[in-house]
Amino acid sequence: MKLIYIKHVYRLALDLVLPPLCVVCGRVNTWLCLPCAEEIPLAHHPICPRCGDSWADEGVCDRCRRTPLCVVPIRSAFVFKDAVRDAIHALKYRNGREVAEPMAWRMAQAWYQQQLHGDVLVPVPLFLDREAERGYNQATLLARALAPQIGVPVEAGLVFRVRPTRSQARLGVAERWVNVKGAFACSEVVDLSGVRVMLIDDVATTGATLDACAVALLTRGARSVSAFTLAHAA
Ligand SMILES: [Zn+2]
Ligand SMILES: [Zn+2]
Repeated sequence: MKLIYIKHVYRLALDLVLPPLCVVCGRVNTWLCLPCAEEIPLAHHPICPRCGDSWADEGVCDRCRRTPLCVVPIRSAFVFKDAVRDAIHALKYRNGREVAEPMAWRMAQAWYQQQLHGDVLVPVPLFLDREAERGYNQATLLARALAPQIGVPVEAGLVFRVRPTRSQARLGVAERWVNVKGAFACSEVVDLSGVRVMLIDDVATTGATLDACAVALLTRGARSVSAFTLAHAA
C-alpha cells in the first residue's frame, strides 16, 4: 500500500473521532468559522478580462489571444492559497460541508463587487461514482448557498458527466484538456435558448473543466456561459 494512501486513511479515521478545527483560528467544531471567513481578502489583483488569470497588461492574456475559451468570463472570489486552500481541502476531502455556507457568503460579496450576471447557476458536476463516494458535490453546495443571496436559481442537473475523468489536480496543463474534452453533456429536455448560464465551481485552474461544460451548454443553445468559482489558481 502506498504511503500517501495510508496517510489519507489515517487522517480520515482521525476525522471520525476528532472534531473539525477552523483552518484559520483553530476553533473547534467547524472547518471555517464565519469571523475567519470574513477576514480573508477577496481577490482584487489585475486579471485577464476573459479567463481571470493574473494579467497586468492591456487587453486579454496571451493564452486567450491564441486559443480563447468558450467559457467567458471566468471570475473568482479568492486566490487559491493559504486559508482558502485549506478550507477548500476540508470542503472536498474531509467532509467539511459547512465550509460552503461562509464561503458562499463571501462569494455573494464578490458577485456584487464584480457586477456579475447570470440567469441560472449550474454547478460543475462530479461523476456519479465520485459524488456517491464523497456524499455530495461541493460545487452544488456552494451554488445552493449562494443562490438565495444573489437571487439567481440553481439548476443542478443541467450538465452531467458522460464518462469518468482522472483528477485534474494530478495532471499537467496539456493532459487536463485531453482528460475533460467531451466528458460532459447537457440534458436534452431543456431549452437553453437565450439563457445566460453561470457555472459554479470550487477552483478554476486551467479552465479546461469549465470550458468542457460550456461547450456542452452552448451546443444546447445557451446564449452565453460564464463561470464564477470560489477560488482561482494563483
Ligand atoms: Zn476561525
Ligand atoms: Zn486570459
